[in-house]
Amino acid sequence: MVTMKTPKKKYYRKQVDLFRLIQKIKLWPSRNGILHGVKSFKIKGVYAEITTHCNQKITIRNSRKSRAARWLRNKWFFRKCKGCRIPNWKLKKFSFTFFSRHQGSQLK
Ligand SMILES: [Zn+2]
Repeated sequence: MVTMKTPKKKYYRKQVDLFRLIQKIKLWPSRNGILHGVKSFKIKGVYAEITTHCNQKITIRNSRKSRAARWLRNKWFFRKCKGCRIPNWKLKKFSFTFFSRHQGSQLK
């Protein structure tokens, strides 16, 4: 019998480093509210280049206050990208990920 394992709740600090967070969860909410899967992530100083599974290249800046950081923390997205085919377990894991001011990993 196959049962879907319920993921453990995971806590990260609200002030967690955006680059580290994306490398960890491998998800990226685009400006128009579509959630992409991250295929590769290259850091170039204060910028990073994301390649999504649907082969889009996005350059982002490392900022905890950026739109993307906020959207990830609040899990704001309208739909998932069809091209990226994000597996359900990954989304489920993400839905069990919480951001807190006082507890959780800083991913350092
Ligand atoms: Zn995509």
